[in-house]
Amino acid sequence: MTKSPVDTPINTRTTSRLGWLRPSWPTVHYPAAVVSEARDVTITRRHTLSLLAAAIAVGGAGVTSACSATAPSSAGTPGGSATSLKPSTAPLTTGPPASITPAGGPGTAPATSRAPAPGVPRSAPARADIVARYAGLAPREWGLEPTGIVQALGTTGVRDKAVALTFDLCGGPTPTSGGNGYDADLVELLRRHDARATFFVNARWARANPRLMDQLIADPRFEIGNHGTQHLPLSVSGRKGYTEQGTHNPGEVYDEVMGNTELLTQLTGHAPRWFRSGTAHYDEIAVKIVGDLGQRCIGFTVNGDAGTTFTAPQVVSAVRTAKAGDIVISHANRPPAQTAEGYAVALPALLARGLRCVTLSDYLTG
Ligand SMILES: [Zn+2]
Repeated sequence: MTKSPVDTPINTRTTSRLGWLRPSWPTVHYPAAVVSEARDVTITRRHTLSLLAAAIAVGGAGVTSACSATAPSSAGTPGGSATSLKPSTAPLTTGPPASITPAGGPGTAPATSRAPAPGVPRSAPARADIVARYAGLAPREWGLEPTGIVQALGTTGVRDKAVALTFDLCGGPTPTSGGNGYDADLVELLRRHDARATFFVNARWARANPRLMDQLIADPRFEIGNHGTQHLPLSVSGRKGYTEQGTHNPGEVYDEVMGNTELLTQLTGHAPRWFRSGTAHYDEIAVKIVGDLGQRCIGFTVNGDAGTTFTAPQVVSAVRTAKAGDIVISHANRPPAQTAEGYAVALPALLARGLRCVTLSDYLTG
């Protein structure tokens, strides 16, 4: 099966990288290169304080990497058991985010070597438990489709002609990094068509865009998924996704998942149910760890914008291939991209075919 790049390197995109990616593009899925600047970097004092606390909680150096994506799989686990269409039961937070405080208070160690912090599900294992549980295990799989990845919505989604549109907000190393941009045209298009969608938010994007984060959380059409803390490929052995360095061991996998879990839980009022790594690369052990932490790794069946490198016609061609039960991956963090322009054509076409845009929680069980 041909795989398009899913997540373009957001922080360190280079000509050479694009040059490497282009040859692998299939004819049907693809877009144009773009670089964006953050449109919204307004940071209120409230958010500044919260984000400072979050940064302390998250810890670690800024790592640049890319977004993620996944292609249809033959090895992956089928989509989660389907349930009847229903509104997300997860509470939405419309007020100011709760203060983000490191578990042990300001100045304490990162949330990586202690019991679950406030906002982290009590049922989540501690970091030390994960490290002990997976110590010494060698992964056998690596890539976009390891065992355990959710690839589609399942039979109920197919029956109901449901399509899950997912948009990654990958973030970047600084508030004005291209990866921290916001495609307002794309989001407004979704709202105009009352299209439900899931946004996979990286912690860096959330910290750079507090006001926009509030707006996405408050919109009942939208669901928030976990796109990692530093946007790292998820590996227990230091593998790379494209050229992006992944995590090196189970402890780092825990940090990548739970750093942003803590932040998103504080912001939304509940723990995220869905995880997508930077570059959407995983090994099967990392996928199991994510499951232990109460989240499911989400792949995709349609690569809608190839990390925002598709031209508008390519986006149209790719997205219009979506069929009932599919999960579509695209990006909403690079406004100069032609993703919105493509969706302006493709989205009405999907709806005209009787397809329904849903969130992951509408059709998957966590
Ligand atoms: Zn990403």
